[in-house]
Amino acid sequence: MSTDCTPAALPAPLCGEPYLLTPGPLTTSHEVKKAMLRDWGSWDDDFRAMTAQMREALLSLIGPGGEDYDCVPMQGSGTFSVEAMLGSFLPRDGKALVLSNGAYGKRIVQTLQYLGRDFSEIDKGDYLPPRGEEVAQALEQDPAITHVVIVHCETSSGILNPLKEIADTVAAHGRKLLVDSMSAFGAVPLEVGEITFEAMVSSANKCIEGVPGFGFIIARKSALEAAKGVGPSLSLDVYAQWTHMEKTGQWRYTPPTHVVAAFVEALRQHREEGGVAARLARYTANRDTLVAGMRELGFETLLKDRWLSPIIVTFFNPDDPAFGFQDFYARMKAKGFVIYPGKLTVVDSFRVGCIGRMDPAVMRRVVAAVAESLEEMGVKSAVPPRIALEERTKLVA
Ligand SMILES: *Cc1c(COP(=O)(O)O)cnc(C)c1O
Repeated sequence: MSTDCTPAALPAPLCGEPYLLTPGPLTTSHEVKKAMLRDWGSWDDDFRAMTAQMREALLSLIGPGGEDYDCVPMQGSGTFSVEAMLGSFLPRDGKALVLSNGAYGKRIVQTLQYLGRDFSEIDKGDYLPPRGEEVAQALEQDPAITHVVIVHCETSSGILNPLKEIADTVAAHGRKLLVDSMSAFGAVPLEVGEITFEAMVSSANKCIEGVPGFGFIIARKSALEAAKGVGPSLSLDVYAQWTHMEKTGQWRYTPPTHVVAAFVEALRQHREEGGVAARLARYTANRDTLVAGMRELGFETLLKDRWLSPIIVTFFNPDDPAFGFQDFYARMKAKGFVIYPGKLTVVDSFRVGCIGRMDPAVMRRVVAAVAESLEEMGVKSAVPPRIALEERTKLVA
């Protein structure tokens, strides 16, 4: 494992600890880790103040107009918050239109099946974006649809879905929008003045750069009020969590105290860095450095530039028979970089995350480690198989 602890513009992870080039859990700062070195009583004033501060800081990220919204944190990983949002805001006699283009869209469908809620789906496959016209058509054809559910950045391919286009269409048709902005919020703008939405979710261990342990829902207060008695699950009832928190300042059941403390520090660093705009700029620079370097080595991205998110990038595996993902993964890890397997059904791929406590200097080292690993494996060319490129031509411009 790498013991290179040379200080970059951002400090490296602890000596010997690899960078997590994964979309959460991700590499966090020393300060975030340090914030977990004390214990907190969940009922104590100090912890209640941290919860209040955190909710307020999160609300400030949705820009002016946030007074009509409130933030409700929820224990568990991000999926728990998605399930809480769907179960609490989609009325029992409502109907969802799910815009699906990857694993997280599929998970939303699966959640609605568990919840026993009515839904229809526009399934765009592995990596095509849902577009406004097709959503408009679906909404015109089916007046029973009350809510549209979209994944902001579909982390399985890395595509940044056209949220504004979809939000405008949904609003124009008088329906409500629920957003899984898990891997985008905090780095990709999601402001109420720009995007009309009913509720959105994200979690502690994505672009705010905290550690895993809870998610949070930001919803219109009117939606929170309307959620009374709707949630089919005791622990995932957003209305109950919200009203309890408003009344007592406490979480309903044991909160992940250390994770909250770390997250408050992560929010402080987010603000100090310059907020959403600065984070977007750093992640974009990470991605651009990565993609340029990888293309120089012969790699090709799954997505055309227009759809590449600054969150995570999918690369096709090289066609060269000397390439094997497991071998490549192990060699990258030995050099201090943990990468992520791909999730495509048709062609083999792998993913590299651009989020977390990393900057372009780190991304240049990632590219160098990739080049070295290929050489060690005897891979002569990183060019993907022809079928991968044929697949890609199906993509819209
Ligand atoms: C990370 C993520 C989730 C939540 O995943 P968990 O493993 O439950 O934290 C949901 N949606 C998207 C788009 C994600 O990136």
